[in-house]
Amino acid sequence: MDKSCWIFEADNVKETWNQVENRFDLEKVNDKNYKKETDNIDLLQPQRCSDVACRVSPYYPRYFKYCPNCGSSLISTLGPNKLPWASPCGTLDGNRSFSNLKWVFGKDSHGYFKLPDRGGQFAFVVTGNERLLAIDRAHGQLFSFCVTIGEWIYHGAIPGIKLPPWAWLASPCPDGVAISTDEGPCWIKVPDIGQDFRVITLSEKKTYRAIGGAALWEDVNHKQIALAPVLSGEGLSMAWRPCSQENPWQAVEINMEGFAGEDLKLNAPTLNGGKDIFWSGKEGFIAVRMEQGLPKAKFYKWDRGHKGCPEFAPYRDLSGMLWQLCYDNEDNHYCFVQLSHSGIQDSKQVDGPHLCIGNKSFMTDKEYEEPWQEGEALDFYPEKLSLVQPLLYLSNGLLYFEVQNESKVRSFVENPGNYSCRLCIRKTVGGEEVLKEGLLTKSPWDAEIFLFNGSLNLYIASQNKCWTWPGKYEEMSNQQ
Ligand SMILES: [Zn+2]
Repeated sequence: MDKSCWIFEADNVKETWNQVENRFDLEKVNDKNYKKETDNIDLLQPQRCSDVACRVSPYYPRYFKYCPNCGSSLISTLGPNKLPWASPCGTLDGNRSFSNLKWVFGKDSHGYFKLPDRGGQFAFVVTGNERLLAIDRAHGQLFSFCVTIGEWIYHGAIPGIKLPPWAWLASPCPDGVAISTDEGPCWIKVPDIGQDFRVITLSEKKTYRAIGGAALWEDVNHKQIALAPVLSGEGLSMAWRPCSQENPWQAVEINMEGFAGEDLKLNAPTLNGGKDIFWSGKEGFIAVRMEQGLPKAKFYKWDRGHKGCPEFAPYRDLSGMLWQLCYDNEDNHYCFVQLSHSGIQDSKQVDGPHLCIGNKSFMTDKEYEEPWQEGEALDFYPEKLSLVQPLLYLSNGLLYFEVQNESKVRSFVENPGNYSCRLCIRKTVGGEEVLKEGLLTKSPWDAEIFLFNGSLNLYIASQNKCWTWPGKYEEMSNQQ
């Protein structure tokens, strides 16, 4: 049988392919034998035959224009469009609203996204170089997804993560991810070819533990800096490192005036319009601002009698200011406290706890422009037996869980259990539509929606299952 060898070289990548009749197989990448278990060949941008019936080779070199077997045109194995990505906490500035993205759902027209074959309690991150990572928070394992072959690559163990899901946030760096672990903050760089990943931790020998999610801050020149609050024997400090350099993390002191060493229980970070970064906790909040290339961090205590509700993501008002839900123990009511770099500026009483995404908030099945909007008391709908857990805003409506047989946000947050729910869309035009019935969720942090490679994906950690709605989206044109 005739066998020939094709070599392509560009952008510091050398590909060696074998041809036997019309079949092509990738043999080597950079002179090393290609192994699908360790090498992510998405970087080669392979192509497949546009005729689905033609299955001689699963993919061909990107340098070919037509299928060597049938002559049909070749198409990229990677998704046709890049999508914005929403983490459980939204984009870097906490936004979970994609006003230019319309998703076309067909009822129950979903598939399943294959998960890594081991581990669970995954968190998903799309890095700056468009790589999907799965971080197994239960056992500390790292995986990356190869779109071309539809398989996960196992990279190995990473430091443990004991932070609760609402406190934990992985921030995507240009070529990796910044995460908060029990061994302090880590920056993890995942290679394209080969399994070995790099971890950069704090340079000092002290034992550090990260106590809030990792944030990513960008300066005017788009240089990114990763930050995370850490605890050591000497107290609380702010760890940080510029993403573009190879330097280890450094730690700077946090001004802890007024702090008596309480357990802070910080939540995931949020940015207000990109300038300041906040972590809220039970006892107070930390405000960070970059000044002359260095983070300046200060801790502020909540007002007397107030306890923070860090499990709840802050509400963002239309001017970009952030408000954290707190409980006033003296007057027995919930309130939203405005976070600012110079301390507490304002607070507003509300009727109950709200679940917020961006500048919308929800209590029971009601949507609020501002949580303190009047006339929508919690007991206003005592007959209601379901509540809305917002997931994502699209241009055609709100994607949410209808949590059945539970009408109180507080109970849903405080009592993890098996809640029956269904995935619905509240359309901008045309009312409500159920997209998926018969789901189960344990808490508001059990489900995660992420957009990747032309699909919208719903992952439920307690079931370790991922539903996917591929390709059915439209990008809105500027005219609309
Ligand atoms: Zn073909």
